[in-house]
Formats: sequence, structure tokens, C-alpha cells
Amino acid sequence: MAPPHVTRFAPSPTGHLHLGHAHSALAGFRAARETGGRFLLRIEDIDLGRARPEYETAIFEDLAWLGLAWEEPVRRQSEHFDDYRAALARLAAAGLLYPCFCTRAEIQAEIARAPSAPQGPDGPLYPGTCRALTGDERDRRLARGEPHALRLDVARARARIGSDLTFEEEGRGPVLARPALFGDVVLARRDFPASYHLAVVVDDALQAVSLVTRGEDLFPATHLHRLLQALLDVPVPRYRHHALLRDDAGRRLAKRDGARAIRELRRLGLSPAEVRRRAGFPD
Ligand code: GLU
Repeated sequence: MAPPHVTRFAPSPTGHLHLGHAHSALAGFRAARETGGRFLLRIEDIDLGRARPEYETAIFEDLAWLGLAWEEPVRRQSEHFDDYRAALARLAAAGLLYPCFCTRAEIQAEIARAPSAPQGPDGPLYPGTCRALTGDERDRRLARGEPHALRLDVARARARIGSDLTFEEEGRGPVLARPALFGDVVLARRDFPASYHLAVVVDDALQAVSLVTRGEDLFPATHLHRLLQALLDVPVPRYRHHALLRDDAGRRLAKRDGARAIRELRRLGLSPAEVRRRAGFPD
């Protein structure tokens, strides 16, 4: 018998949940229930420009209608910027962050100039422009109050850890982490002091999540998350990335695909059991 798992479902309130979300949520919920563990719900709303309270309310309604129950209080990322600041301060104190003043357009122009820009899972990697700034230049621009993001100096970070890192992917065994996959990622955006990667690692640790169930689209991110866990000295959960649900044409389900929204299926008269079945979890 597996140990009791602490699992979580961590949606962003930027649209209505669809069948793919129902699959993720049920995967976490059932893994917790089958092991006598705990299931948590976390609202990933750090992107204040895109998150909407009405979507958050809809998430609660849809999940409850589907038959899920979760522990209260629900952690809402927008209420925990201090936790992310503390993690950033720790990385900064270790000399692993640098301010990046580049705009998106400047980065694109720099990449276009490069003969062969290295690619990551999300596109071309940051070319490292601001990593090369002198200390004086950096200080001058900071003193002028220029808007900036904070990036992880991934080469330094790896050097600091010094040894290979692995994570446990269920059904695959230990996976060797390749944390440089995303290059020098942004850990604090210009507009708010966190990023998805930072917040998810901090929160999974603070919430003692022991099994992360999520879509395989986030599998590459786990390589970076493993490095952040090592740098922040937090426990490493196990991972279970699941295949993404696809529509009849084989396309990934997306929030914009309103017809697959759980509330739409509900409005059409489907029962929770039928929606669970369509999400891949027959009772
Ligand atoms: N908030 C992320 C999303 O909605 C999921 C994060 C995770 O499960 O690690 O795609």
C-alpha cells in the first residue's frame, strides 16, 4: 500500500475549467483518497492581470459539482507574495539572481541577431544580455529605478549544487534533471515578485505536497523545479504527469474551447458521473 499522499490541484483562475482540468483534479483527488491522504486545492493567481475572481468562484462550483472535496482554507498565491519574496531573497543572497532590464522586444531582436539561438521548451532561450552587465552598470540602472525582472543564473546555480539531480516520475523511475532546459528563467517578473516556477516550488514545499499530479505539458518544467528545490533546500515530491486529454480532432483541450467547459457540459444536462467518465475517471 502506497504511503498516504498529499496531492493538490492548482488551477489558474483565467478561464473556466474544461475536461482536461477535471482529469487533473480527479487524478490528484483519487490518488489522495486511495492512500488515505489529503487533497488540496490551490489557486494560482499570481498573474493579477489575468486572474478573475469570477473564474475562481466557478472553479469551486465546478469541482464541488464533480464531487471533489478539498481542505480549507484554500491557498491563494496572491496572498503569499511574502513567501516568494523570502525565497527570492535566499537565492539573491547566494548570488544566483541578476536583474534583467530587457523588454520582450529587445530580447526578440537579440535572438534574431544570433546565428543559432538555443531553444527551450517555451521557445528560444534568453540570450543572457543582462547577465553580462558590469556591476556598475547594473547598480546605475537599479538606482535609476529601471523596471526589471530577476533571472536565475542557471550555470551558477548548477555549479552551486555541484552534483546531478534526479526526480521520481511514477512509472518511469528516477529521471535525471536537466535544469538548464529553460536557460536563465525569470523568477520574479517586472510586475510582480514571483513567477509560476518559483511559486509552485515554494507552495508545494510549504503545503507538504508529496505527489504532484499534473499534465505532461509541465513535465519539462519539473527539470527546473528540481533545481529550485535543491537551491531552496526543500523536500522533493514524487511526480505523476498524465497524458493530456484531446478533442476528437486530436487537439489539446484549451480554456478557449468553451464547448468542453465543465459548466457547459453541466448545462447540457450531463451528470457529474458522466463528466467524470469523459474525463477518464469512471466510477
Ligand atoms: N497553475 C498551473 C496551470 O493551471 C498548474 C500548475 C501545476 O500543476 O504545477 O496550468
